[in-house]
This record gives sequence, C-alpha cells and structure tokens, in this order.
Amino acid sequence: MTELTFTRTEAARMPAAEREAILADPGFGNHFTDHMVSIVWTKEDGWQQPELLPYGPIQMDPASSVLHYGQEVFEGLKAYRREDGSIVTFRPDENAKRLNDSARRLALPEIPVELFVAAVRELVAADAEWVPRGADQTLYLRPFMIADESFLGVRSAERARFMVIASPAGPYFSGGVKPVSIWLSQQYARAGRGGTGAAKCGGNYAASLLPQNEAAAQGCQQVLFTDSATPDTIDELGGMNLFLVRADGTLLTPQLNGNILEGITRKSLIELARDRGMAVEERELTVSEWRAGVADGSITEAFACGTAAVITPIGQLKATDFTIDFGAAAPGPTTLALREELTGIQFGTRADTHGWLDLVVKG
Ligand SMILES: *Cc1c(COP(=O)(O)O)cnc(C)c1O
Repeated sequence: MTELTFTRTEAARMPAAEREAILADPGFGNHFTDHMVSIVWTKEDGWQQPELLPYGPIQMDPASSVLHYGQEVFEGLKAYRREDGSIVTFRPDENAKRLNDSARRLALPEIPVELFVAAVRELVAADAEWVPRGADQTLYLRPFMIADESFLGVRSAERARFMVIASPAGPYFSGGVKPVSIWLSQQYARAGRGGTGAAKCGGNYAASLLPQNEAAAQGCQQVLFTDSATPDTIDELGGMNLFLVRADGTLLTPQLNGNILEGITRKSLIELARDRGMAVEERELTVSEWRAGVADGSITEAFACGTAAVITPIGQLKATDFTIDFGAAAPGPTTLALREELTGIQFGTRADTHGWLDLVVKG
C-alpha cells in the first residue's frame, strides 16, 4: 500500500459569503464542500495513491459494474465544531471497520482502517471552514465504495473506488427533537436471513424507498421493519436502530441477528446507559410486547437512533389496524437525557471518558 500522504489538487473555493449563506440553513444533504477524497483499488495492485480533489462529477463508463449490479457500500459520520474552535469526529475507526464488514458481504475490497481515517481527516482539514458553528449543526461525512470495472459479466469487480464527500447539516428532521410517527411495514421487508441486512449498502436503501413512500402517504416520517420470517419481531427502521424504554428505566433493543445494521449510535448509547447504571437488554423484541407494554404502562418511551438524526423520539407507531401512541408523554426524559449526554460528548460539553473523539483540527 501507498503511504498516507494525499496528492492534493486545490479547488477554487466557494466565496466566504456564499458559503456562510449556506451554513446559515444547510438542511440535510443539499450542499457539498469544496473537496472530495478519491482512492482507486485494483485487484492487481491494491489501493492506489490517495487523492484530495476538487468536488465534482466523476467520469464513469456506462458499463461500470456498480450501475448494473449495485456493488456499493457506504458510511455516515459527522465532524463537530466545538466551543474552542476545535473540530472532532466521532469514532471514525468504527465506521472504517463497519465499512469493511459491509465490503466483505458485497464482495468489495477492504480498506485499511488507517487509510479510511486518514481520508476523513484529510477532507475535514481541507474543508474545515465548512464545519458549521450553529447549535446542532455538523459536517456530515459520507465515505463510500463502488465497484468500478467496465464489465457486464456477473462476478465481483476487479476495480473499485473509495470516496469521501462532505455536506453541512442542520437537524435531520425539521422541527428539532419533536417526536416522529413511524409506519409499520407489513407488506415489505428490508432484509431476510442470509441477505444483506447487516451491511450498509445502497441496495438495502433502494428496497426501503417504496415502503418509505407508503409511510409518507400515512403521514409518517420513517418505516419500522420487522423480521420477514416472524413478522412480529422488530428489526429496525430504514436507516436507524430502535430502542424502547421500560418504566423501570431499562433499555430494550433488538439483538444483532444478522438482519440488523449494527449502529455506532446504538452501540455508544448502550455503553452510555450502562455507565449510568441503567440495565440494557439486547434481545428479541416484538410489536406485541411494545403494544402491551404501552397499554399497561410498563413501556414509557421509544426512540430511534443513528448518526444522521442522533436520537429521535417516537411519538407513534402506526399500522394498518392499530396505532401505538405515546401522545404527550413523548419525548420522554430518558430519551432526552441520553441525547444530551451523547451530543454533549460530541460537541465537547461533556467529558469524553471513552476516548471516542478524533481531534482533526486544534482549537
Ligand atoms: C447507518 C444505519 C443505522 C445507524 O447507524 P449509525 O452508525 O448509528 O449511524 C441504522 N440502520 C441502518 C439500516 C443504517 O444504514
């Protein structure tokens, strides 16, 4: 492999006034920074010289394998600007390891963890001015890998490309930490046994868009998927993991069963909850248990979690023939306390006792 020095091609930077106008209200995923990282892999020579390039379109052959067979995996993490001006990312090595887990399942090459982390640092440092200063604003980073061989035969590609792009982000759901309604998908699944449910790949998202449209038509912001074989068993949302909170303070979340994406937010919250002395049960959860628990008062809160939306309280679960409603009880105190703890660590107002932050730019 090459060393971790990037070939740099400076971009014409966006004028500061224009950039600041975007940063005042970035939304989510609408705008992109001045640069991007690109690293080519070939079966013969492995990972090539890493490059920092001006952000822009990439040339691709119409026969490129990703366009036909969907060999693609991705990641999502954020850079946070803190009070003292420093910029950090959160557990980037975890994203690197997970990208490699996903890559293995999609028969793509694995990237050395240090190269992944260096690529993220390189882009954040180059485009540091794009890390917003506003409350709850971040720079969302999207590392991804595509198969990029011009060949229509069906086999794993012998050429791939890893890239990182960055997009300034405000809160994921407009309206702050308002509870969301989620739709129980009873017709469609996102994963099945032996499938790609545990991999972060574009194909899973493609499969979730139709049910997502169905959810939107029902006035819901997200979809809850259950196990395709045992439809009462809760898996997760289209892009977020799910937690229930019991009245006694215990957190409940579906165990990793091969269909669920192992969220880094999920994993971090489990650690933070245990630090606080809370019990956490990772086990099979069912919609029936959720329904019965809300009815008898033993389940008091539900929330979804993921990097993009952090922790989002769930106000309602709607299905064709019933609704579970937390009403005025959402967002609940446990949901809010965990959210505050996690974002506090990320933005530097709470101690990072686990060493989760990677300092990219000094304050
Ligand atoms: C990315 C993702 C999550 C959340 O993972 P984080 O690491 O917490 O961002 C959950 N479910 C799915 C399907 C995902 O793609």
